[in-house]
Amino acid sequence: MGGLVCDVADNMGWHAQHYVHASEFISNHGEEMDVLVLDLMMPDLDGVEMIRLLAGMESKISLILISGVDKSVLHSAQELAFEHKLNIIGTLQKPFLPHELRNMLSGIKAVSSAVVAHKKHGDEFSISKSDLQTAIDQKQFIAFFQPQVALGNMSVIGFEALMRWQHPQRGLIPPNRFIPQAEEFGLIDEMTWQLFDQIAADWKKYNLQQTVSLNMTAGMFKDLGLPDRLYGIGSRHQFVNNAQIVLEVTESALMDELTRSLDNLTRLRMKGFHLSIDDFGTGFSSMLQLYRAPFTELKIDQSFVMRMEKDTEARTIVESTINLAHNLNMKVVAEGVETASILNHLVKLGCDSAQGYFIARPMPIDDAMQWMHDWRIKKSR
Ligand code: C2E
Ligand code: CA
Ligand code: CA
Repeated sequence: MGGLVCDVADNMGWHAQHYVHASEFISNHGEEMDVLVLDLMMPDLDGVEMIRLLAGMESKISLILISGVDKSVLHSAQELAFEHKLNIIGTLQKPFLPHELRNMLSGIKAVSSAVVAHKKHGDEFSISKSDLQTAIDQKQFIAFFQPQVALGNMSVIGFEALMRWQHPQRGLIPPNRFIPQAEEFGLIDEMTWQLFDQIAADWKKYNLQQTVSLNMTAGMFKDLGLPDRLYGIGSRHQFVNNAQIVLEVTESALMDELTRSLDNLTRLRMKGFHLSIDDFGTGFSSMLQLYRAPFTELKIDQSFVMRMEKDTEARTIVESTINLAHNLNMKVVAEGVETASILNHLVKLGCDSAQGYFIARPMPIDDAMQWMHDWRIKKSR
Protein backbone atom coordinates (compact mmCIF):
# COMPACT_ATOMS: atom_id res chain seq x y z
CA MET A 1 0.00 0.00 0.00
CA GLY A 2 2.92 2.35 0.81
CA GLY A 3 4.19 1.72 -2.71
CA LEU A 4 0.84 2.60 -4.28
CA VAL A 5 0.62 5.84 -2.31
CA CYS A 6 4.14 6.82 -3.35
CA ASP A 7 3.44 5.98 -7.01
CA VAL A 8 0.30 8.06 -7.15
CA ALA A 9 1.97 10.98 -5.39
CA ASP A 10 5.11 10.77 -7.55
CA ASN A 11 3.01 10.77 -10.69
CA MET A 12 1.31 13.94 -9.53
CA GLY A 13 4.66 15.64 -9.07
CA TRP A 14 4.92 15.29 -5.30
CA HIS A 15 8.09 14.12 -3.67
CA ALA A 16 6.94 11.10 -1.66
CA GLN A 17 8.63 9.03 1.02
CA HIS A 18 7.38 5.84 2.63
CA TYR A 19 7.99 5.01 6.30
CA VAL A 20 6.98 1.86 8.15
CA HIS A 21 7.59 3.32 11.60
CA ALA A 22 6.04 6.56 12.84
CA SER A 23 9.20 7.35 14.79
CA GLU A 24 11.21 7.37 11.56
CA PHE A 25 8.83 9.87 10.01
CA ILE A 26 8.95 12.16 13.01
CA SER A 27 12.70 12.14 13.43
CA ASN A 28 13.37 12.56 9.72
CA HIS A 29 10.76 14.85 8.37
CA GLY A 30 7.98 15.78 10.75
CA GLU A 31 7.83 19.51 10.03
CA GLU A 32 8.79 20.01 6.42
CA MET A 33 6.30 17.64 4.77
CA ASP A 34 3.07 19.02 3.27
CA VAL A 35 0.98 15.88 3.36
CA LEU A 36 0.89 12.79 5.51
CA VAL A 37 -1.01 9.69 4.35
CA LEU A 38 -1.34 7.89 7.64
CA ASP A 39 -2.24 4.23 8.04
CA LEU A 40 -3.98 3.76 11.37
CA MET A 41 -2.29 0.40 11.89
CA MET A 42 1.44 0.80 12.28
CA PRO A 43 3.91 -1.44 14.06
CA ASP A 44 5.16 0.91 16.79
CA LEU A 45 2.81 3.84 17.29
CA ASP A 46 -0.78 3.46 16.17
CA GLY A 47 -2.60 6.09 14.11
CA VAL A 48 -4.51 7.51 17.05
CA GLU A 49 -1.31 8.07 19.01
CA MET A 50 0.17 9.65 15.94
CA ILE A 51 -2.78 12.05 15.68
CA ARG A 52 -2.22 13.11 19.29
CA LEU A 53 1.45 13.59 18.62
CA LEU A 54 0.80 15.76 15.57
CA ALA A 55 -1.73 17.76 17.57
CA GLY A 56 0.85 18.27 20.32
CA MET A 57 3.27 19.61 17.72
CA GLU A 58 0.50 21.90 16.41
CA SER A 59 1.29 20.37 13.06
CA LYS A 60 -0.06 22.11 9.96
CA ILE A 61 0.45 19.03 7.79
CA SER A 62 -2.42 17.94 5.52
CA LEU A 63 -3.56 14.58 6.76
CA ILE A 64 -5.18 11.68 4.90
CA LEU A 65 -6.12 8.66 7.00
CA ILE A 66 -6.21 5.16 5.57
CA SER A 67 -7.16 1.92 7.17
CA GLY A 68 -8.29 -1.61 6.54
CA VAL A 69 -10.24 -1.75 9.80
CA ASP A 70 -13.94 -1.10 9.80
CA LYS A 71 -15.27 2.19 8.60
CA SER A 72 -16.52 3.48 11.92
CA VAL A 73 -13.00 3.31 13.37
CA LEU A 74 -11.67 5.33 10.48
CA HIS A 75 -14.47 7.79 11.01
CA SER A 76 -13.75 8.17 14.73
CA ALA A 77 -10.08 8.76 13.99
CA GLN A 78 -11.12 11.46 11.55
CA GLU A 79 -13.31 13.10 14.20
CA LEU A 80 -10.41 12.96 16.63
CA ALA A 81 -8.20 14.73 14.11
CA PHE A 82 -10.92 17.38 13.61
CA GLU A 83 -11.22 17.86 17.36
CA HIS A 84 -7.50 18.41 17.53
CA LYS A 85 -7.75 21.01 14.77
CA LEU A 86 -5.52 19.02 12.44
CA ASN A 87 -5.79 19.78 8.78
CA ILE A 88 -7.55 16.59 7.77
CA ILE A 89 -8.26 16.11 4.07
CA GLY A 90 -10.14 12.84 4.14
CA THR A 91 -10.14 9.13 4.79
CA LEU A 92 -9.67 6.12 2.53
CA GLN A 93 -10.76 2.61 3.25
CA LYS A 94 -8.30 -0.06 2.09
CA PRO A 95 -8.19 -1.35 -0.56
CA PHE A 96 -8.71 1.92 -2.44
CA LEU A 97 -8.19 2.84 -6.07
CA PRO A 98 -5.41 5.15 -7.24
CA HIS A 99 -7.89 7.76 -8.50
CA GLU A 100 -9.46 8.06 -5.04
CA LEU A 101 -6.13 9.10 -3.59
CA ARG A 102 -5.44 11.31 -6.58
CA ASN A 103 -8.71 13.19 -6.03
CA MET A 104 -7.80 13.83 -2.45
CA LEU A 105 -4.27 14.96 -3.18
CA SER A 106 -5.44 17.29 -5.91
CA GLY A 107 -7.72 19.12 -3.46
CA ILE A 108 -4.92 19.95 -1.09
CA LYS A 109 -3.93 23.33 -2.42
CA ALA A 110 -7.36 24.76 -1.81
CA VAL A 111 -7.38 23.49 1.75
CA SER A 112 -4.04 24.94 2.67
CA SER A 113 -4.94 28.34 1.26
CA ALA A 114 -8.07 28.25 3.42
CA VAL A 115 -5.83 27.64 6.40
CA VAL A 116 -3.59 30.54 5.47
CA ALA A 117 -6.62 32.77 5.02
CA HIS A 118 -7.87 31.68 8.41
CA LYS A 119 -4.55 32.56 10.01
CA LYS A 120 -4.66 36.07 8.66
CA HIS A 121 -7.75 36.80 10.69
CA GLY A 122 -6.16 35.38 13.78
CA ASP A 123 -4.73 38.65 15.10
CA GLU A 124 -6.55 38.54 18.40
CA PHE A 125 -7.32 41.74 20.25
CA SER A 126 -9.08 41.87 23.55
CA ILE A 127 -12.57 43.28 23.82
CA SER A 128 -13.66 44.97 27.02
CA LYS A 129 -17.16 45.59 28.28
CA SER A 130 -16.78 49.31 27.63
CA ASP A 131 -15.68 48.64 24.00
CA LEU A 132 -18.93 46.78 23.46
CA GLN A 133 -20.99 49.38 25.31
CA THR A 134 -19.52 52.16 23.16
CA ALA A 135 -20.25 50.13 20.04
CA ILE A 136 -23.87 49.71 21.16
CA ASP A 137 -24.20 53.44 21.86
CA GLN A 138 -22.75 54.27 18.45
CA LYS A 139 -24.88 51.65 16.71
CA GLN A 140 -21.88 49.83 15.25
CA PHE A 141 -23.57 46.42 15.25
CA ILE A 142 -25.25 45.80 11.94
CA ALA A 143 -27.00 42.89 10.25
CA PHE A 144 -25.81 41.11 7.13
CA PHE A 145 -28.33 38.97 5.33
CA GLN A 146 -27.84 35.55 3.78
CA PRO A 147 -30.59 34.30 1.47
CA GLN A 148 -32.41 31.01 1.83
CA VAL A 149 -33.92 29.45 -1.28
CA ALA A 150 -36.70 26.88 -1.58
CA LEU A 151 -35.32 23.75 -3.20
CA GLY A 152 -38.58 23.11 -5.04
CA ASN A 153 -38.50 26.17 -7.31
CA MET A 154 -35.35 28.01 -6.17
CA SER A 155 -37.34 31.07 -5.07
CA VAL A 156 -35.98 33.25 -2.29
CA ILE A 157 -38.06 32.49 0.78
CA GLY A 158 -36.10 34.19 3.49
CA PHE A 159 -32.89 35.65 4.85
CA GLU A 160 -30.88 34.86 7.94
CA ALA A 161 -29.70 37.97 9.76
CA LEU A 162 -26.09 37.65 10.89
CA MET A 163 -24.51 40.22 13.16
CA ARG A 164 -21.37 42.11 12.20
CA TRP A 165 -19.43 44.74 14.11
CA GLN A 166 -18.61 47.68 11.89
CA HIS A 167 -15.61 48.86 13.86
CA PRO A 168 -14.37 52.37 13.00
CA GLN A 169 -10.69 51.29 13.07
CA ARG A 170 -10.70 47.53 12.65
CA GLY A 171 -13.30 47.25 9.92
CA LEU A 172 -15.86 44.49 9.80
CA ILE A 173 -15.58 42.01 12.66
CA PRO A 174 -17.32 38.61 12.42
CA PRO A 175 -19.65 37.48 15.23
CA ASN A 176 -17.50 34.65 16.54
CA ARG A 177 -14.99 37.29 17.62
CA PHE A 178 -17.32 39.32 19.83
CA ILE A 179 -20.51 37.38 20.64
CA PRO A 180 -18.90 35.17 23.30
CA GLN A 181 -17.65 38.35 25.04
CA ALA A 182 -21.03 40.03 24.65
CA GLU A 183 -22.61 37.03 26.38
CA GLU A 184 -20.00 37.05 29.11
CA PHE A 185 -20.56 40.77 29.83
CA GLY A 186 -24.34 40.38 29.70
CA LEU A 187 -24.70 42.71 26.71
CA ILE A 188 -25.93 40.28 24.07
CA ASP A 189 -29.62 40.93 24.74
CA GLU A 190 -29.26 44.66 24.26
CA MET A 191 -27.25 44.13 21.06
CA THR A 192 -29.78 41.67 19.72
CA TRP A 193 -32.73 43.97 20.36
CA GLN A 194 -30.93 46.84 18.69
CA LEU A 195 -30.31 44.62 15.67
CA PHE A 196 -33.95 43.51 15.48
CA ASP A 197 -35.06 47.09 15.44
CA GLN A 198 -32.85 47.82 12.41
CA ILE A 199 -34.03 44.66 10.68
CA ALA A 200 -37.70 45.50 11.15
CA ALA A 201 -37.00 48.93 9.65
CA ASP A 202 -35.27 47.28 6.65
CA TRP A 203 -38.22 44.94 6.10
CA LYS A 204 -40.61 47.85 6.21
CA LYS A 205 -38.46 49.98 3.90
CA TYR A 206 -38.30 47.30 1.21
CA ASN A 207 -41.76 45.93 1.95
CA LEU A 208 -40.32 42.43 2.11
CA GLN A 209 -42.52 39.35 2.12
CA GLN A 210 -39.69 36.93 2.90
CA THR A 211 -39.02 35.54 6.35
CA VAL A 212 -36.15 36.80 8.46
CA SER A 213 -34.29 34.38 10.73
CA LEU A 214 -32.96 35.88 13.93
CA ASN A 215 -30.26 34.26 16.06
CA MET A 216 -31.33 34.16 19.70
CA THR A 217 -29.39 33.14 22.76
CA ALA A 218 -31.12 30.49 24.86
CA GLY A 219 -31.36 32.97 27.75
CA MET A 220 -33.72 35.20 25.78
CA PHE A 221 -36.38 32.49 25.79
CA LYS A 222 -36.62 32.67 29.56
CA ASP A 223 -37.92 36.23 29.40
CA LEU A 224 -41.69 36.04 29.67
CA GLY A 225 -41.98 39.41 27.96
CA LEU A 226 -40.30 38.07 24.81
CA PRO A 227 -43.40 37.54 22.62
CA ASP A 228 -44.75 41.03 23.38
CA ARG A 229 -41.41 42.67 22.90
CA LEU A 230 -40.95 41.04 19.49
CA TYR A 231 -44.46 41.97 18.52
CA GLY A 232 -43.79 45.53 19.72
CA ILE A 233 -40.79 45.92 17.43
CA GLY A 234 -42.80 44.61 14.50
CA SER A 235 -45.72 46.92 15.07
CA ARG A 236 -43.51 49.96 15.63
CA HIS A 237 -42.31 49.48 12.06
CA GLN A 238 -45.74 48.38 10.86
CA PHE A 239 -44.18 45.03 10.10
CA VAL A 240 -46.54 42.86 12.04
CA ASN A 241 -46.72 39.54 10.34
CA ASN A 242 -45.25 37.36 13.07
CA ALA A 243 -45.10 34.40 10.71
CA GLN A 244 -42.32 36.21 8.86
CA ILE A 245 -40.08 35.97 11.92
CA VAL A 246 -38.10 32.80 12.52
CA LEU A 247 -36.35 32.58 15.86
CA GLU A 248 -33.25 30.40 15.74
CA VAL A 249 -31.58 28.88 18.74
CA THR A 250 -28.78 26.33 18.69
CA GLU A 251 -29.58 22.81 19.66
CA SER A 252 -26.89 22.65 22.31
CA ALA A 253 -27.83 25.98 23.94
CA LEU A 254 -31.50 25.20 24.03
CA MET A 255 -31.61 21.70 25.35
CA ASP A 256 -30.23 22.65 28.78
CA GLU A 257 -32.94 25.25 29.15
CA LEU A 258 -35.78 23.54 27.39
CA THR A 259 -38.10 22.79 30.27
CA ARG A 260 -37.80 26.31 31.62
CA SER A 261 -38.50 27.80 28.20
CA LEU A 262 -41.27 25.50 27.07
CA ASP A 263 -44.09 27.84 28.12
CA ASN A 264 -42.53 30.76 26.27
CA LEU A 265 -41.82 28.69 23.17
CA THR A 266 -45.44 27.60 23.12
CA ARG A 267 -46.67 31.18 23.49
CA LEU A 268 -44.40 32.33 20.66
CA ARG A 269 -45.84 29.64 18.42
CA MET A 270 -49.38 30.58 19.42
CA LYS A 271 -48.64 34.11 18.25
CA GLY A 272 -47.42 32.81 14.90
CA PHE A 273 -43.63 33.19 15.23
CA HIS A 274 -41.61 30.34 13.75
CA LEU A 275 -39.03 28.50 15.84
CA SER A 276 -35.95 26.89 14.42
CA ILE A 277 -33.28 24.61 15.90
CA ASP A 278 -29.90 25.75 14.63
CA ASP A 279 -26.78 23.57 14.18
CA PHE A 280 -28.94 20.48 14.43
CA GLY A 281 -26.92 17.33 14.93
CA THR A 282 -24.26 18.90 17.15
CA GLY A 283 -26.28 18.94 20.38
CA PHE A 284 -27.97 16.14 22.21
CA SER A 285 -31.69 16.56 21.87
CA SER A 286 -33.72 13.47 22.52
CA MET A 287 -36.69 12.36 20.47
CA LEU A 288 -38.91 13.29 23.39
CA GLN A 289 -37.57 16.84 23.55
CA LEU A 290 -38.04 17.29 19.82
CA TYR A 291 -41.55 16.00 20.09
CA ARG A 292 -42.43 18.20 23.04
CA ALA A 293 -40.96 21.48 21.87
CA PRO A 294 -43.05 23.34 19.31
CA PHE A 295 -40.33 23.84 16.70
CA THR A 296 -41.22 24.40 13.09
CA GLU A 297 -37.80 24.01 11.48
CA LEU A 298 -34.51 22.16 11.80
CA LYS A 299 -31.29 23.56 10.37
CA ILE A 300 -28.84 20.81 9.58
CA ASP A 301 -25.43 21.80 10.82
CA GLN A 302 -23.10 22.84 8.04
CA SER A 303 -20.40 20.38 9.06
CA PHE A 304 -22.62 17.52 7.85
CA VAL A 305 -23.79 19.31 4.73
CA MET A 306 -20.27 20.20 3.65
CA ARG A 307 -19.04 16.66 4.09
CA MET A 308 -22.09 14.83 2.76
CA GLU A 309 -20.55 13.90 -0.56
CA LYS A 310 -17.24 12.69 0.80
CA ASP A 311 -18.37 11.01 3.95
CA THR A 312 -21.10 8.38 4.09
CA GLU A 313 -21.78 8.98 7.79
CA ALA A 314 -22.37 12.69 7.16
CA ARG A 315 -24.73 11.84 4.30
CA THR A 316 -26.64 9.43 6.53
CA ILE A 317 -27.03 12.16 9.15
CA VAL A 318 -28.32 14.61 6.53
CA GLU A 319 -30.76 12.05 5.16
CA SER A 320 -32.09 10.95 8.51
CA THR A 321 -32.45 14.54 9.72
CA ILE A 322 -34.59 15.32 6.69
CA ASN A 323 -36.77 12.28 7.35
CA LEU A 324 -37.00 12.94 11.07
CA ALA A 325 -37.99 16.57 10.54
CA HIS A 326 -40.64 15.70 7.98
CA ASN A 327 -42.08 12.99 10.18
CA LEU A 328 -42.38 15.56 12.96
CA ASN A 329 -43.97 18.07 10.56
CA MET A 330 -40.98 20.37 10.53
CA LYS A 331 -39.22 22.03 7.61
CA VAL A 332 -35.53 21.41 7.01
CA VAL A 333 -32.93 23.97 5.99
CA ALA A 334 -29.48 22.81 4.89
CA GLU A 335 -26.77 25.26 5.82
CA GLY A 336 -23.27 25.53 4.35
CA VAL A 337 -24.18 24.61 0.77
CA GLU A 338 -20.99 25.40 -1.07
CA THR A 339 -21.34 23.53 -4.38
CA ALA A 340 -23.92 22.93 -7.10
CA SER A 341 -23.51 19.23 -6.63
CA ILE A 342 -24.44 19.36 -2.93
CA LEU A 343 -27.40 21.57 -3.80
CA ASN A 344 -28.64 18.99 -6.34
CA HIS A 345 -28.09 16.20 -3.90
CA LEU A 346 -30.24 17.99 -1.30
CA VAL A 347 -33.00 18.48 -3.86
CA LYS A 348 -33.02 14.71 -4.46
CA LEU A 349 -33.18 14.02 -0.73
CA GLY A 350 -36.28 16.19 -0.42
CA CYS A 351 -34.71 18.91 1.73
CA ASP A 352 -36.95 22.00 1.86
CA SER A 353 -34.52 24.87 1.57
CA ALA A 354 -30.86 25.75 1.43
CA GLN A 355 -28.47 28.45 2.46
CA GLY A 356 -24.77 28.71 1.67
CA TYR A 357 -21.93 30.35 -0.18
CA PHE A 358 -22.92 28.61 -3.41
CA ILE A 359 -26.16 30.60 -3.36
CA ALA A 360 -24.85 33.77 -1.74
CA ARG A 361 -22.71 35.00 1.11
CA PRO A 362 -24.17 37.17 3.87
CA MET A 363 -24.35 40.80 2.67
CA PRO A 364 -25.64 44.24 3.67
CA ILE A 365 -29.33 44.85 3.04
CA ASP A 366 -28.90 46.92 -0.13
CA ASP A 367 -26.67 44.27 -1.69
CA ALA A 368 -29.11 41.57 -0.63
CA MET A 369 -31.93 43.39 -2.43
CA GLN A 370 -29.83 43.77 -5.57
CA TRP A 371 -28.84 40.09 -5.34
CA MET A 372 -32.50 39.04 -5.06
CA HIS A 373 -33.38 41.10 -8.12
CA ASP A 374 -30.55 39.48 -10.15
CA TRP A 375 -31.40 36.00 -8.88
CA ARG A 376 -34.99 36.35 -10.05
CA ILE A 377 -33.89 37.43 -13.52
CA LYS A 378 -31.39 34.57 -13.72
CA LYS A 379 -34.03 32.09 -12.61
CA SER A 380 -36.61 33.25 -15.15
CA ARG A 381 -34.23 32.79 -18.07
P1 C2E B 1 -24.89 30.33 12.47
O1 C2E B 1 -26.14 30.87 13.04
O2 C2E B 1 -24.77 28.85 12.35
O3 C2E B 1 -24.71 31.05 11.07
C1 C2E B 1 -24.17 30.46 9.94
C2 C2E B 1 -22.73 30.85 9.74
O4 C2E B 1 -22.22 30.10 8.65
C3 C2E B 1 -22.55 32.30 9.36
O5 C2E B 1 -21.30 32.72 9.89
C4 C2E B 1 -22.48 32.23 7.85
O6 C2E B 1 -21.77 33.31 7.26
C5 C2E B 1 -21.73 30.95 7.67
N1 C2E B 1 -22.02 30.32 6.37
C6 C2E B 1 -23.15 30.38 5.65
N2 C2E B 1 -23.05 29.66 4.52
C7 C2E B 1 -21.82 29.11 4.53
C8 C2E B 1 -21.11 28.26 3.60
O7 C2E B 1 -21.60 27.86 2.56
N3 C2E B 1 -19.84 27.90 3.96
C9 C2E B 1 -19.27 28.34 5.11
N4 C2E B 1 -18.01 27.94 5.37
N5 C2E B 1 -19.91 29.13 6.02
C10 C2E B 1 -21.17 29.52 5.71
P2 C2E B 1 -21.17 34.07 10.70
O8 C2E B 1 -22.01 35.15 10.08
O9 C2E B 1 -19.72 34.33 10.89
O10 C2E B 1 -21.85 33.73 12.08
C11 C2E B 1 -21.26 32.81 12.95
C12 C2E B 1 -22.16 32.54 14.12
O11 C2E B 1 -22.32 33.68 14.96
C13 C2E B 1 -23.58 32.16 13.73
O12 C2E B 1 -23.62 30.82 13.32
C14 C2E B 1 -24.33 32.43 15.02
O13 C2E B 1 -24.18 31.34 15.90
C15 C2E B 1 -23.58 33.61 15.58
N6 C2E B 1 -24.37 34.82 15.31
C16 C2E B 1 -24.44 35.56 14.18
N7 C2E B 1 -25.29 36.59 14.34
C17 C2E B 1 -25.80 36.50 15.59
C18 C2E B 1 -26.74 37.27 16.36
O14 C2E B 1 -27.33 38.26 15.90
N8 C2E B 1 -26.98 36.85 17.65
C19 C2E B 1 -26.39 35.75 18.17
N9 C2E B 1 -26.69 35.39 19.44
N10 C2E B 1 -25.51 34.99 17.48
C20 C2E B 1 -25.21 35.36 16.21
CA1 CA C 1 -28.19 30.65 12.79
CA1 CA D 1 -26.03 27.08 11.96
